[in-house]
Amino acid sequence: MSGDCAELYQLLDAYVDGELSAGECEQLKSHLVECPSCLSEYERDALLKALVRRSCQCEEAPSTLRAQILTRISTFASDGQTFRSTTVTTVTELD
Ligand SMILES: [Zn+2]
Repeated sequence: MSGDCAELYQLLDAYVDGELSAGECEQLKSHLVECPSCLSEYERDALLKALVRRSCQCEEAPSTLRAQILTRISTFASDGQTFRSTTVTTVTELD
């Protein structure tokens, strides 16, 4: 992770909560365009927060959104991008 990434990562949480200034927002967005590993972190955070908000409003998370999240996660994993979750199932296939 470069210095840029470390700095931008700190903005991710505020970004998905809509708490960044316009300048910080632009800085983060322009980084996400060229950095797949930060983008994967952002997308996962944003989608998970969307799910949490929905559950807080006593709405069921639509199955399409859940499927979208799983698709994105498996896409990032198969691309070989850094992903924090352990992909246990792929390990057994290496034998
Ligand atoms: Zn980055």
